[in-house]
Amino acid sequence: MKFNTIANHGGKHDDSGMRAVNYPIYLSATFAQPDSDTQGEYGYSRGNNPTRASAEQLAAALEGAQFAIAAGSGMAATSIVFELLQSGDRVLINTNVYGGTWRFVSNLFDSRGINYEIVNDFNTYDFANAPKDTRMVFIETPSNPLLEITDIARVAEEAHKINALVVVDNTFMTSYLQKPLSLGADIVVYSATKFYSGHSDVLAGLVLTNDAARNERMRFINNTLGGVLSPIDAFLLQRGIKTLGIRMEREQENAQKIAEYLNAHPAVTKVYYPGLPDHKNREIQERQAEGAGAVLSFLFNEETYDLKTFVGALTLFPFAVSLGGTVSLICRPSTMTHESYSPELQKEIGIVPNLLRISAGIEDAEDLIGDLDQALRKAKK
Ligand SMILES: *Cc1c(COP(=O)(O)O)cnc(C)c1O
Repeated sequence: MKFNTIANHGGKHDDSGMRAVNYPIYLSATFAQPDSDTQGEYGYSRGNNPTRASAEQLAAALEGAQFAIAAGSGMAATSIVFELLQSGDRVLINTNVYGGTWRFVSNLFDSRGINYEIVNDFNTYDFANAPKDTRMVFIETPSNPLLEITDIARVAEEAHKINALVVVDNTFMTSYLQKPLSLGADIVVYSATKFYSGHSDVLAGLVLTNDAARNERMRFINNTLGGVLSPIDAFLLQRGIKTLGIRMEREQENAQKIAEYLNAHPAVTKVYYPGLPDHKNREIQERQAEGAGAVLSFLFNEETYDLKTFVGALTLFPFAVSLGGTVSLICRPSTMTHESYSPELQKEIGIVPNLLRISAGIEDAEDLIGDLDQALRKAKK
């Protein structure tokens, strides 16, 4: 079966006898056991819940993965993965990752005795000479917010030679456009708050792997830490997934048009989007993914245009963090999504104050571009 079919048929089928077309929401914290000697399939909802199990089955099927774990948010998913690390281990991460991931690494690793290092370019990184304590490589590709591309297959091959686990945060691409496990990654994490749920109305996270022992360990961690996905949110996640493929197509198409429009506009000095011909490492993106995605960022020319007037004049782009919803959004990473990066680090990696990030929604491209156009005309100094 292909993606959109799986997205609509890959969850659990109603086992209540009611023949409901959608799998029910089981709002029960606890489940009675068959008898004093037998454990039922479900016990307590922190450990397992039928509606969540359906969402997990669906997410695994979409990814072509053996196992999926649903967590209460993308950060809860990332926490499960980081909990695999032990004192004395080292993690390598790429320069621009999600701000919350960096907040975790830069604030919580020291007291746990976990070492970390930012790697500028994994495509040329010399893994043979990596620090000996390296146990995990954590990458986001395209990266957030500068849309840099990392060659997943190369990283997986090289990192495995030094016994490091490869984790990919695949939030920007989703399984519709990119399947890191099939490129050699060990674990995939998602903020399913974004494209998977797709309507900016639910927080959710996913962790996927093909390794049974690792899955067991991560399930144990999820149950122990308790950051699980609620049954209602598990239902909403599945509802969102039904249209994931068609939303991605439309949002990507809109992102491409917006990127081309901005690229030709004097108010913009640079557009970061893997769908533009001049994007660095575009050929890696074309090799490992089915498209460029729906997020782009750009440098706003503050010499001749006023940024505050521009974002204030937009009517179809709420000035808000997050991405992957049907409604387009615009934000300023330096003060919003990436404020956890110190000013020095921001400057070093290119998260400058005049960088703006757009998540393209499913609106009509003509209207989106018309809105950008009228706001830019107002913003001209
Ligand atoms: C939003 C996001 C996260 C965190 O997910 P939450 O659901 O907000 O906890 C992680 N990684 C990326 C790439 C994100 O965009």
